[in-house]
Amino acid sequence: MSTIIIDGKDVSQRIREGLKAEVAELTAAGRTPGLAVVLVGEDPASQVYVGSKVRACEELGIYSQKWALPAETTQEELVELIHKLNADDRIHGILVQSPPPPHIDEEAVILNIDPRKDVDGFHPVNVAKLVLEEEDGFVPCTPLGCMELLKAYNIPTAGKHAVVIGRSMIVGKPMANLLVSKKANATVTIAHSRTADLPALCRTADIIVAAVGRPEMVKADFVKPGAVVLDVGINRIDDASRPRGYRIVGDVDYADVCDKCSAITPVPGGVGPMTIAMLMANTVKACRQLTC
Ligand code: NAD
Repeated sequence: MSTIIIDGKDVSQRIREGLKAEVAELTAAGRTPGLAVVLVGEDPASQVYVGSKVRACEELGIYSQKWALPAETTQEELVELIHKLNADDRIHGILVQSPPPPHIDEEAVILNIDPRKDVDGFHPVNVAKLVLEEEDGFVPCTPLGCMELLKAYNIPTAGKHAVVIGRSMIVGKPMANLLVSKKANATVTIAHSRTADLPALCRTADIIVAAVGRPEMVKADFVKPGAVVLDVGINRIDDASRPRGYRIVGDVDYADVCDKCSAITPVPGGVGPMTIAMLMANTVKACRQLTC
């Protein structure tokens, strides 16, 4: 069986090109979309993520503000900034890069973001809108990106059994909600760390979404021949042969699984590139909704 390798770089590039045209149109009408990215502390991975988000805005013509706050910033100071950004007409999307330092209560901070500007889709109002299938809410970027990949490759979901491995609020749960929605019509099972006999459950799946954070956990014996496998995982594993001393692998053992499935996302180059594209899409959506 020849396996389709789902090219997230290509799909995200096409989405970005479409967004660039939309941003130009909005800008010509005096409605330039704006995103504020807030980083607290000096976590190196977070700095890289924030840098890529700001660069993506620049490429598309989206106005951006980067707020790099010192690690000792208090909860009150952070909330004060969020309130300022909520009131700033140039800003349509606000995100606080995760994880903040331990003295910051992330959930409490998110509650202060105006839900209409919550382009990460983490505010309870947006969680509810996803469950209620209300179109004007914001859906977390990574699961939204997975749905776009399925769409781009015309992979049917209606009537299919999807097993989502992982129940986080960022990936697993919103992914399951998107798949079970009346738009996608899949039958969904959410698996997690306490699920009994995960390989047997996964073998009943037409679509597997792995969002676990365990390198190469999903093996060939998890996969029914012809299933579609979306690998959300981003894990570093030691590799002395690489200049940096590590390489990135997913939650799926790609080499083991690849020949058995009908389509699969590689890591890197699969789901990863979609996340920022969806953040840009959510920012443009927020701008349209706030300035119409
Ligand atoms: P998380 O740690 O919040 O959640 C992991 C989930 O996996 C939990 O719900 C847990 O119950 C489940 N789990 C743990 N061990 C398990 C096991 N042995 N069997 C079955 N389930 C198990 O992680 P997350 O934030 O959802 O991220 C998951 C992965 O996706 C990570 O590798 C992360 O780096 C990656 N990620 C990628 C992107 C992207 O842009 N591609 C975005 C977010 C997260």
